[in-house]
Amino acid sequence: MSSVKPPVPFRIGIGYDSHRLVSNRALRLGGVDIPSERGTLGHSDGDAVIHAVCDALLGACAMGDIGTHFPDTDPRYEGIDSRQLLEEVVERLHRAGWALVNVDITVVLERPKLRPRIVAMRSELADILGVGEERVGMKAKTNEGLDAVGAGEAVVAYAVAMVYRRSDVA
Ligand code: MG
Repeated sequence: MSSVKPPVPFRIGIGYDSHRLVSNRALRLGGVDIPSERGTLGHSDGDAVIHAVCDALLGACAMGDIGTHFPDTDPRYEGIDSRQLLEEVVERLHRAGWALVNVDITVVLERPKLRPRIVAMRSELADILGVGEERVGMKAKTNEGLDAVGAGEAVVAYAVAMVYRRSDVA
């Protein structure tokens, strides 16, 4: 039996990230600095939202994950602004012939409430991704007091991304 395999121009990917929250660290999510008593612990700036988006993009293209592209054993990435990592991921995706359709993100943080920051985060991410804000969905939730996230000890972020094959690439 012969099988026909037409080119599939669309792919989806999923991303997830979590970071512990501690005193004496800054909180930056979605590329936006957020006043908070606690911030994310991490090798980079600990921007869980951007890390989840990076993994969703890379996953959609079956190009590995953020850890394979930017190993946390590499001193170049210590304390790095994660916006630079996302810029690089977008660049690598483009070079591989893919472009973004949209991303959708859920970030879970007990406090401070992120809802007032959604506009700023979407704008920042759209800028880096090179798409309109209507292609960047974002929801902010608490964990209703449950588990480590609910206790204010961690932040988690989920993202999905859809990409398409650019027609100018074979
Ligand atoms: Mg991370």
